[in-house]
Amino acid sequence: MSTTIPDQAAELAPAVSSFLATDLHKAYVGGQWVEAADGSTFEVLDPGTGNRIAVVAGLGKADVDRAVDAAADAFSNSGWASMPVAERAVALHRIADAVEARFKEFAQIESLDCGKIYAQAEADIQNFIDTFRYFADLSQAVNYRQVIAVKGHEAWVARHPWGPCGFIIPWNFPFLLAGWGLAPALAAGNTCVLKPAEDTPLSALYLCHVVHELGLLPAGVLNVVTGLGETAGAAVSQNPRFRRMSFTGSPEVGRLVAEACGRNLIPIKCELGGKGAAVVFNDVDIAKTAQGLVNAITFHTGQVCCDATRWLIQKDIYEDFVAECKSRMQDVQIGYPMAAGSQMGPVVNAKQRARVLGYLEKGVADGADLVLEGGAAELEGLNGFYVKPALLAGSLNNVAAREEIFGPVAYLAPFSDEEEGIRLANDTEYGLGNSVWSSDLQRCARVAEAFRSGNGWINSHNVVVHGVPYAGIGKSGMGGGVVSPDTLDDYLRPISVVRPL
Ligand code: NAD
Repeated sequence: MSTTIPDQAAELAPAVSSFLATDLHKAYVGGQWVEAADGSTFEVLDPGTGNRIAVVAGLGKADVDRAVDAAADAFSNSGWASMPVAERAVALHRIADAVEARFKEFAQIESLDCGKIYAQAEADIQNFIDTFRYFADLSQAVNYRQVIAVKGHEAWVARHPWGPCGFIIPWNFPFLLAGWGLAPALAAGNTCVLKPAEDTPLSALYLCHVVHELGLLPAGVLNVVTGLGETAGAAVSQNPRFRRMSFTGSPEVGRLVAEACGRNLIPIKCELGGKGAAVVFNDVDIAKTAQGLVNAITFHTGQVCCDATRWLIQKDIYEDFVAECKSRMQDVQIGYPMAAGSQMGPVVNAKQRARVLGYLEKGVADGADLVLEGGAAELEGLNGFYVKPALLAGSLNNVAAREEIFGPVAYLAPFSDEEEGIRLANDTEYGLGNSVWSSDLQRCARVAEAFRSGNGWINSHNVVVHGVPYAGIGKSGMGGGVVSPDTLDDYLRPISVVRPL
């Protein structure tokens, strides 16, 4: 299949063109490229043009079950789980090296597949590399046999890998989230079955090509099962042979996956949606803070789970702040993700665009003021899924202030004092990331700690750093943080050994 990208974009790397020229992208199971047993396939579109860029195998339950069997077999027989920790760490570093050597190829595939601004795709690829290196190094510092001093007993806790682990991930950060899941699990000696989102399976498949060609992992240690959520995703969530499950996506599907895991008593970590707030006090630099929030809500076209979507502004600067945001938001350059100068690309698909536009209509119908209109954006010669950024304002009981939109839409409201700012920020079922903005750092620390969320950020938003646990609570997730030592610990099975003396 040939892929046409607009003239204004940089040329595709030859390796990317030849990867995309494949007529059928097969899934990767047990070190082999496989089609669905029933021949099912699905199409992947470039969100920037609406053109088809790939046809991918759509696996069913029997295919997914075979992948889990392959992961279980590799866990028992490939030597991966019993390999010295340092050797596994070398394998992870070699995967990071291989991705680094093909940095541009991965960044182009990611940008094309999910409509991500090219520089943001590059940041995601770098994040994947950093994640692999972080967990490779961290795995060598774990105490795998921790002696416990107890009176009258010899005791210790030994830590082993669990077995096959499942990962179901969404379309907004496909490669970055694959790294967040796979790296700690592999570093701990587990084997993996990854189910990418149907809109964005290409970077995970390209990773399999690289791993396969270079022989970086024993067969069956990494498996990628492509397919639709209700078939391949459901099959992953229901398979009883997994020992751990990780789901990232919407709260609605998260519930289904958690229920299925609950029936099999498989521990699950869920990273779900968000409705984050930014609480802005009257002592901020208005221009700088407004720009920070405009950058946050337009970053990856607002398709960011921990985004600042409710902007709570102290009353005495409210009018000035709203005006500043409006003018900066209007200046955001919408364009093809791989074209120079584009600051905001499309949303991922037509359904997501309809969702964003629908929330604007519902919000206005529910009484919100339209500060900046938004709506569909038409780009000459491009049939992609573009939307303009929008600002709403008014009562925080509005549907657009309460539900996750997942687009470049922020909702503004005033507050009077610190107590009210915190109360409004916490008045949501979600609990992922909130931020506080003020030049008084003591107040910032107080407010950040008072948030009822997994993350509280100061004078910035969307700050996720390796080593600091990132997690959601309530409707935003359960099961603890990722990208931190806690995550590696999650992928190690503890066994307590005790001998009375
Ligand atoms: P989604 O829940 O629709 O899909 C996520 C994954 O689940 C996909 O791979 C999909 O194929 C699969 N799936 C769909 N139906 C399934 C089923 N019945 N059984 C098993 N799997 C199924 O989410 P999305 O629309 O792809 O992503 C957007 C959502 O993800 C937003 O709510 C966003 O906030 C959330 N998200 C959260 C984080 C986080 O770290 N907290 C990160 C990224 C995205």
